[in-house]
Amino acid sequence: MLLVEDLHKSFEDFTAVDGANLQVRQGELVAVIGPNGAGKTTLFNLITGHLKADRGRIRFLDREINRMAAHEICRQGIARSFQIANIFHRLSVFRNVQVSVLSQKKLSRSLFRPAQTLVVEETRRILESVGLLGKQLDIAGSLSHGDKRILEIAIALGNEPQLLILDEPTAGMSPEETASTMELVKRLARDQGLTILFCEHDMDVVFDVATHIMVMQHGRTLIQGTPEEVRRNATVQDAYLGGA
Ligand code: ADP
Ligand code: MG
Repeated sequence: MLLVEDLHKSFEDFTAVDGANLQVRQGELVAVIGPNGAGKTTLFNLITGHLKADRGRIRFLDREINRMAAHEICRQGIARSFQIANIFHRLSVFRNVQVSVLSQKKLSRSLFRPAQTLVVEETRRILESVGLLGKQLDIAGSLSHGDKRILEIAIALGNEPQLLILDEPTAGMSPEETASTMELVKRLARDQGLTILFCEHDMDVVFDVATHIMVMQHGRTLIQGTPEEVRRNATVQDAYLGGA
């Protein structure tokens, strides 16, 4: 589904991504791990078109997406959440998701059915799938930190993505929120056939959820493999898992 080859990105004289390689197949839950500053967020920004790569290739569903603008890449079927939640704080939970569904639907289907009805149904379905339907009338800014991050996932789902990219979905969450968020991520993959690429600091979460793991260090891909392969790799153990 997604193929990243030898990707590079520098900021002035600092190279943040310096030979990243990544493969994501349909239905996989792929975790990118690596210390702070390894280049994970930059890699995600390159994939989603929020940054342009200096060189390397990014293919999504057999299309080169390197040169596409962020909104074009989104239309190809990639949606993402940010490390810091990106929501409309003064709008209701419902309206936050509705805006996203509207912008996706408006293009193609509004001629065929009353757009408003369609969008309301779709918005409610998404809110239900993430467990926020009961809070649909709440003002987004009043939600708990955990619910704000879940709302951001709901907004991303409004784009009907095939690939969902989550940048530290559990950052700042309590252990309970972390557990329920990762249950949600697994459920979305299972029930909605979503493919998910995420980065995450908590190794227990990573090894519990990921079907595949890519390890980044100094902007480079150290290894990509199954959790077992990554756990067994001596370089990864020394560099990152603390020899554990
Ligand atoms: P991670 O998400 O793995 O913690 P990042 O991709 O955020 O890492 O950052 C990788 C490196 O690139 C860091 O050293 C960071 O300071 C640097 N960096 C990221 N974005 C920029 C930018 N816009 N300008 C300059 N340096 C940046
Ligand atoms: Mg980051």
